[in-house]
Amino acid sequence: MRFASLGSGSAGNALVVEVNHTRIMLDCGFSVKETVSRLARLNLAPSDLAGIVITHEHDDHAGGAFKLAAKYAIPVWLTYGTLKMVTRYIPNQHDLQLNIVDSHSAFTVADIEVQPYPVPHDAREPIQCVFSDGNHKLGVLTDVGRATPYIEEKLSGCKALVLECNHDARMLQAGPYSWPLKKRVGGDLGHLENLDSANLLSKLDNSKLQHIVAAHLSAKNNTPQLAKSALAKVLGCEMDWIGIADQLLGIDWRAIS
Ligand SMILES: [Zn+2]
Ligand SMILES: [Zn+2]
Repeated sequence: MRFASLGSGSAGNALVVEVNHTRIMLDCGFSVKETVSRLARLNLAPSDLAGIVITHEHDDHAGGAFKLAAKYAIPVWLTYGTLKMVTRYIPNQHDLQLNIVDSHSAFTVADIEVQPYPVPHDAREPIQCVFSDGNHKLGVLTDVGRATPYIEEKLSGCKALVLECNHDARMLQAGPYSWPLKKRVGGDLGHLENLDSANLLSKLDNSKLQHIVAAHLSAKNNTPQLAKSALAKVLGCEMDWIGIADQLLGIDWRAIS
């Protein structure tokens, strides 16, 4: 099992999980052209994707998903609430193979098991996902205002984690955003700040952890160094051990064994 990010941040997110010859893309916030060129960096083509799972309707997650899915006949999985909110992206629903996800029920796409879980975020019915091949678990959490005991339960015992480190609270307060936007981003339905993310990490069973990648970093209100240092402190590891899925390059393949 391995995973890679095509890019992460408010300008677009997409992650690929691979088990044997099955590959799922989680979110697609890039244009078709951009997605194809970013997939090529990972030696993949759209036809290699068995499915696209969409976490919620925000542009940076859903903006490019349906054009890609329609063009290359890739099935899509999403919650009913998300579907209701993305109809503007879907010119002709009949061109798409849409599968409705129950946010508490696991489903499989060929060799990959996907366990969705609901999260507090300012979208209609947002989910995040834990991926598994039956032996290993990759937990992904971005776009969440506050960690919850349920999130802790879902992310405990993972071998790899992709964890939102959206902002540094002080940088956000002092930064260029308008007051309403600061309130939204820092609020319970916004995005996770570095220390909240570190606090969540400290409550997980990390005994099997092989990879941790910080994701969805704000370009204006965070730095990779601050995110890395917050997470490294919890794990007692070198800062270099913490990966960063950045906006431009994402992160290269990481194998889970
Ligand atoms: Zn987002
Ligand atoms: Zn969002």
